[in-house]
Amino acid sequence: MEDQTVIIVGAGTSGLATAACLHRQSIPYTILEREDCSASLWKKYAYDRLHLHLVKQICELPHMPFPSSYPRYVPKNLFIQYLDDYVSRFNINPLYGRRVELADYDEINNKWVVKARNVNSDETEEYSARFLVVASGGSCDPFTPDIDGLSSSTAEVFHSTRYKNGKPYSGKHVLVVGCGNSGMEIALDLANHGAKTSIVIRI
Ligand SMILES: Cc1cc2nc3c(=O)[nH]c(=O)nc-3n(C[C@H](O)[C@H](O)[C@H](O)COP(=O)(O)OP(=O)(O)OC[C@H]3O[C@@H](n4cnc5c(N)ncnc54)[C@H](O)[C@@H]3O)c2cc1C
Repeated sequence: MEDQTVIIVGAGTSGLATAACLHRQSIPYTILEREDCSASLWKKYAYDRLHLHLVKQICELPHMPFPSSYPRYVPKNLFIQYLDDYVSRFNINPLYGRRVELADYDEINNKWVVKARNVNSDETEEYSARFLVVASGGSCDPFTPDIDGLSSSTAEVFHSTRYKNGKPYSGKHVLVVGCGNSGMEIALDLANHGAKTSIVIRI
């Protein structure tokens, strides 16, 4: 069992920001991240043309502004560069390939006991800490609703986390379901690539 002051679950932007703040206060912590990299949402599960949808002034992490050369709406690749620089600057070393499966508070010893599956060895590891920060994200698990006929459809069906760009869909009929940030921008990208694009909006 490894003992720390703080355990952080997730090395997305929230987990990294928490780690940097703890580092500045010299508070020991461990980050447990199920993927093999930090900021996996941005590195692995985002489409090519993605820019931050909000102006850069309100998207930077604590204690490190964006470089002044960055544009008002930061493109994905520059954001990833910024996050990698952030990791180096604050010496953040997440434990990758650790999927947290259980967190239990031990009231006798006043500690959190966290069990994580090591996805490489498939063994369960145990960590304990006085404080637990859950930074596992609000939207990192792809969800595809159970729609009638979807499973028997012969059409290619996939979640937006697997979409990179519209090139393979030029001239094809594509239906985008949902018009949040991802749905709207992906529909535009498909149209720009010459796909015959429709979008379903619930309201
Ligand atoms: C298209 C799009 C555009 C966006 N534009 C902006 C923008 O302009 N500005 C902005 O501020 N935000 C934007 N966002 C929101 C963005 O998702 C969040 O700001 C940010 O990535 C959330 O960070 P997070 O650390 O909370 O979660 P995530 O980035 O989701 O990180 C969570 C991490 O926890 C890990 N994890 C989850 N479960 C476990 C587990 N059981 N064990 C171990 N690890 C686990 C995941 O692998 C992941 O690495 C956008 C999102 C999308 C999809």
